[in-house]
Amino acid sequence: MSTTHFPVAIVGGGLGGLTAARVLHVNGIESVIFDLESGPEARTQGGMLDIHEENGQKALHAAGLHGAFLKIVHEGGQAMRLLGPDGTVRVSSEDEGDGDRPEVDRGDLRDLLLNSLPEGTVHWGRKVTGARPLGDGRHEVSFTDGTVITSDLLIGADGAWSRIRPLLSDAEPAYTGISFVETDLYEADTRHPRSAAVIGGGFFIALGHGSGLLAHRETDGSLHVYTARKADEGWIDTIDFSDPVAAKAAVLAHFEGWDEDLRGLVADAETITPRRIHALPVGHRWNRVPGVTLLGDAAHVMSPFAGEGANLAMYDGAELALALAADPGDTEAALAAYEEALFPRSEASAVESAASLDTMFGEDGLEQMAGFFTSGPAGR
Ligand SMILES: Cc1cc2nc3c(=O)[nH]c(=O)nc-3n(C[C@H](O)[C@H](O)[C@H](O)COP(=O)(O)OP(=O)(O)OC[C@H]3O[C@@H](n4cnc5c(N)ncnc54)[C@H](O)[C@@H]3O)c2cc1C
Repeated sequence: MSTTHFPVAIVGGGLGGLTAARVLHVNGIESVIFDLESGPEARTQGGMLDIHEENGQKALHAAGLHGAFLKIVHEGGQAMRLLGPDGTVRVSSEDEGDGDRPEVDRGDLRDLLLNSLPEGTVHWGRKVTGARPLGDGRHEVSFTDGTVITSDLLIGADGAWSRIRPLLSDAEPAYTGISFVETDLYEADTRHPRSAAVIGGGFFIALGHGSGLLAHRETDGSLHVYTARKADEGWIDTIDFSDPVAAKAAVLAHFEGWDEDLRGLVADAETITPRRIHALPVGHRWNRVPGVTLLGDAAHVMSPFAGEGANLAMYDGAELALALAADPGDTEAALAAYEEALFPRSEASAVESAASLDTMFGEDGLEQMAGFFTSGPAGR
């Protein structure tokens, strides 16, 4: 069993961990990332993200990558449509590009960050099983292959089911009461024209009776759809997802009476994958533990209904790196300053995300969301 020492070790190469490593790098601090994926191409990074001016874009500025980011923005991706279950269009905005929430493909954004790091920063195929304190802020991190490393500063950026979080907190994500079934429809304009037409050029929501369909048109012309339901935690286990025809029928049974074009987003799909939505307690925080901290979903996974998770992960990564760069001689002071701002920031977003969940899946979710999208600046 070999032991290698790294001054700064980040567990998790998602958007949060990559942003932290990049902002550390531009400030002259080198780090390593350990990720369980076998390589950068191991998993498709589907999904569109809108990157907010007040957090995600600030992180990209700190990373020196905002100009490059603007080049990968999905033109027209900010368009949005809200429909009722009968197919009536309640809100439709074809985006003129006001620029504060540009949409980007998650995979393109990850590649941008990955390619900005010194070669060898990310150690792929390294699944962490746990970590233990060695004293004086140092930690030992263990991997599934039996190896261990030690660090002076350990950063848990390993998502909702973090293996680093137990060093700081006993909290675990709990089921939110919402289950997703994700579907994809490829080459939509030619192969699925009715679905392409119903979704439009960007983001799409249809809501009714405690259920919803949320979808994006992706940059490659495919449609990615989240079928969302208020459901018992065991609902997904009652469906055999190895039999796509039966699985689609089981999901559509909960969308009886919905417009046929909307049902087509499931009926005509080429992939079907279940996902339960989990969240850490709102206001999750911990007492300072020397030599270790968390960022992104590891610190505050929340339901995706505020559209903030990826933005917050990147912002956390940048803020942590900037705090460390501002106080290079005193890591503990830097971590304390980072966490002091992190806790209220993530609590505010978690409150918003829990409230959005209640609104969207409440009895009058459609009316509430129609009001939300047609009020305020820029109709949001
Ligand atoms: C359905 C859905 C839709 C969403 N839509 C949006 C949206 O529109 N906008 C938005 O801002 N956010 C959205 N989010 C939230 C967003 O995806 C997350 O908040 C964001 O990805 C968190 O980034 P992260 O870097 O903290 O963690 P992750 O993206 O989870 O990255 C964690 C990394 O750690 C690695 N890892 C995990 N465990 C280990 C281990 N034991 N050892 C080594 N490596 C490990 C993983 O391989 C991964 O690379 C959505 C989430 C969901 C579920």
